[in-house]
Amino acid sequence: MKVIDHLKGAKGTLFSVEILPPLKGKSIQSIWEVLDPIMEFKPSFIDVTYHREEYVYKKRENGLLEKFSIRKRPGTVGICAAIINKYKVDTVPHIICGGFSKEETENALIDLHFLGIDNVLAIRGDAIKSEPGFSPDPDGHHYAIDLVKQIVCMNKGQYLDEELAEVAPSHFCIGVAGYPEKHFEAPNMKSDFKYLKAKIDAGADYIVTQMFFDNKKYFDFVKQCKEAGINVPIIPGLKPITTKKQASVLPKVFHIDIPDALLDEIEKCGTDKEVRQVGIDWCINQSKELKKNGAPCLHYYTMGTAATTIAIAKGVF
Ligand SMILES: Cc1cc2nc3c(=O)[nH]c(=O)nc-3n(C[C@H](O)[C@H](O)[C@H](O)COP(=O)(O)OP(=O)(O)OC[C@H]3O[C@@H](n4cnc5c(N)ncnc54)[C@H](O)[C@@H]3O)c2cc1C
Repeated sequence: MKVIDHLKGAKGTLFSVEILPPLKGKSIQSIWEVLDPIMEFKPSFIDVTYHREEYVYKKRENGLLEKFSIRKRPGTVGICAAIINKYKVDTVPHIICGGFSKEETENALIDLHFLGIDNVLAIRGDAIKSEPGFSPDPDGHHYAIDLVKQIVCMNKGQYLDEELAEVAPSHFCIGVAGYPEKHFEAPNMKSDFKYLKAKIDAGADYIVTQMFFDNKKYFDFVKQCKEAGINVPIIPGLKPITTKKQASVLPKVFHIDIPDALLDEIEKCGTDKEVRQVGIDWCINQSKELKKNGAPCLHYYTMGTAATTIAIAKGVF
């Protein structure tokens, strides 16, 4: 079932999670360890992130460094199919521009279509870790909107090879990313809204937000989206802070602010166990307020562990 149909048919705020594939070489058991206990809360859908290649340098016997390209967390599509098979729950594989030519994207979409996966989150992806900025594959997409357009074309039965006869259209529901605190590359919020609206106008069905810790940012974002003519569901993405270190790491990595009141509470903590409880309580309060104000779904970034998401879900649903 499509995410958009889950949202349309919902009687209240839905619950969903995002998981990430295990590190290469680890078994799928680590996914079941996260999802088995989460299933009690009946997630409407499960997102699985996509991780592009990184470059690592290995020292050779002659002392020289050799550059390797590796993907540390492969398996997005396989995990989605395995989840559907095991739990009969809808999955949303993330599909990115980076590292894909248009044809490779088309082939990846065909795999998803054949597997009966009707949902994708279409995103650009970040730069390769060792590179200063995002650069697309020579025959790939620069921006998420280009990916959205390709998927919309496939939904209409238009493949890259226009001469294909008797083609079967795909029927993907398309999610895109939105940033209540602005995408870090956007010169200002107005510009970011312009391109977000373009993704919706191109055919995206809903938005999932970057994490935020101040609900006012989400409410303002939703209001400004409406004013800009963006009328699709906007799903808030939530992550609890669980260690003191995250208070400085998350703003750096995700370009988000930690509110004073939360930072004060974290600074009072002597141990990470205490920080975790502060983070869970904060996220429960955020979730309750979002739910009360009609958020269509609460989407939790599990970051590979179930316990905190479960503690929050118990307090909210
Ligand atoms: C919910 C969510 C899930 C994510 N999952 C993953 C994942 O699984 N794997 C992963 O690698 N990354 C993931 N990311 C991170 C994401 O890839 C990065 O934030 C990336 O930097 C931007 O992706 P985007 O799809 O928002 O890009 P875009 O929508 O392409 O926007 C990127 C920037 O370009 C600007 N822009 C857009 N279109 C144009 C245009 N035509 N001309 C000029 N400027 C333009 C935008 O304002 C923005 O500043 C996720 C992010 C979110 C919020």
